[in-house]
Amino acid sequence: MTNPRQLLDAYAVQPKKGLGQNFLFDPNTLQKIVDCARLQKSDTVLEIGPGTGGMTALLARQAAQVIAVELDERLQPILAHEFASYRNVEFYWGDILEVDLAELVGNRPYKVVANLPYYITSAILRKLLESVPRPQTLTVTVQKEVAERVIAQPDNMSLLSVSVQFYGKPHIVAKVKSAVFWPKPDVDSAVLHIEVYDTPPVDVPDEDTFFKMARAGFSQKRKQIKNSLAGGLGLSNEVVTTLLNTARIDGTRRAETMRLEEWAALTRAYKNEGY
Ligand code: SAM
Repeated sequence: MTNPRQLLDAYAVQPKKGLGQNFLFDPNTLQKIVDCARLQKSDTVLEIGPGTGGMTALLARQAAQVIAVELDERLQPILAHEFASYRNVEFYWGDILEVDLAELVGNRPYKVVANLPYYITSAILRKLLESVPRPQTLTVTVQKEVAERVIAQPDNMSLLSVSVQFYGKPHIVAKVKSAVFWPKPDVDSAVLHIEVYDTPPVDVPDEDTFFKMARAGFSQKRKQIKNSLAGGLGLSNEVVTTLLNTARIDGTRRAETMRLEEWAALTRAYKNEGY
């Protein structure tokens, strides 16, 4: 594939910072990221933000079908020309956050591989993991700090790590230097591989209540869990103490220290109290 900068120059397209347009031009790094996805020849891949198509071409070689969603219609003539001879690549023009995934992929299993636009990383992860059909795996390049927050363990947990780890097992599988992107971003990147579970790893009566508890717990930074739950759920201190006792959680701890299983125990206690 042609270098993204040359392609954009040829079509007089300027990269838009506001769309997270940092194009990965190094073929070895692109291949390394695609390898991290461990694709099979029979796979359907959803790519978010194909840009000038450098990664798309590699995916097309290793998968049965590539569905690529791109927001920036200025890239349409470039991709139409570059992929004219490809029979297994389909482009959709629109915002990934607005797309109906069920309509896009139908009921076939699929995997996500992408160099994500960083300005909406969390929103994209949330959308992909919360909607049905869920991908089997995600292999996504994200800002290094975000990748570290996603894989965090108790003591450093956040709503992001709880949300991702409820749906899948995330690993950082590669580091990516900012110098392989044009324009060069201010931050380094990492490749996150997430194996999505068939069923959540903890026992919860319903997902909405589990996330309601976690959101309440993380609603007030660095507060003791008993206070953030009382504030976030609008409950009295007495009721919160009962819930925490039932779930065997010390109310003076902070949300960052809590394990997924403890959020689940709290959710069960809340439901058992009739909420
Ligand atoms: N895949 C290319 C690469 O590896 O060089 C480009 C990656 S660039 C980091 C992110 C891409 O996402 C850009 O092409 C950008 O236009 C696209 N994008 C930004 N916001 C988007 C959205 N909401 N939906 C779909 N694509 C989006």
